Amino acid sequence: MQTITRKTLLYRGGFKSTDFCLNHVEGCSHGCKYPCYAFLIKQRHGAVKDYADWIKPKLVGNALDLLDSEMSRLGNRLGRVYMSFATDIFMYGSGEVRDLTLRIMAKLNSRGIPCTTLTKGIYPKEVAEKQGAGKENHYGITLVSLDEDFRRKYEPGAAPLADRLAALKYLHDKGCKTWVSLEPYPPEFMVKQDITKLLDAVSFVDEIAVGKLNYNNELYRHKGINEFYKHVYFSIWRYCDKNNISYAIPIVPEKKPAEEPVKKPAPLQLALNLPEPAGCGV
Ligand code: SF4
Repeated sequence: MQTITRKTLLYRGGFKSTDFCLNHVEGCSHGCKYPCYAFLIKQRHGAVKDYADWIKPKLVGNALDLLDSEMSRLGNRLGRVYMSFATDIFMYGSGEVRDLTLRIMAKLNSRGIPCTTLTKGIYPKEVAEKQGAGKENHYGITLVSLDEDFRRKYEPGAAPLADRLAALKYLHDKGCKTWVSLEPYPPEFMVKQDITKLLDAVSFVDEIAVGKLNYNNELYRHKGINEFYKHVYFSIWRYCDKNNISYAIPIVPEKKPAEEPVKKPAPLQLALNLPEPAGCGV
């Protein structure tokens, strides 16, 4: 895999002033076609030429050196690190990306800095075994459908959905904190699906986050899209409330669930307040 050199690695993002993000890869072989916002931005700024260029990722060759110097400079102003919202940390089939990701996580955790991660790849089992210092890590996957035809069309290079889900369940069973991003939740013109089945499949996680589709020219050609998303948000809210799952929903649904709501668990502090919308939907 090709490498690039960067001047900085960590940048501010997240809920707190001590939350930071990093992307140690440029490009992403998953090549999502919702489209991927990270790709659109990188193309606009000239960092990648086109889609073919985007799906040939390049490692940030000096990522570990940058991390060392930036961790020292930031000291205790570095609270939590979000990985990664403009690439994928466990890019499907890439041992090089996986190895660098694990080294970065180990370095952060060894200094007591927890990570919140998101992938459309497969979590290696060693994440559960080796990240002993990372009990405060939050491991997430993006899973917006259970339909493999949808996955092949819109997430062509990403891991098969069942494998992605099984790897996250493994971490959950080992006692890790897990979450799922349902963003960008696909409208019916992309895939018709029963949201309850999707929620049942991910019901073991500690937190569910959702967001709408963006930057897709088709979106507002379809009537009732706002109502569709209100229904989606309400369904997720009701489901999470009922099953005691923490949630991150863009708007508070107008209707109250019929049942008495249970107390919402403390959120996992997902990266919902990033400086710009991210490719991976958080
Ligand atoms: S949406 Fe995420 S996983 Fe998909 S191509 Fe963009 S960065 Fe990669």
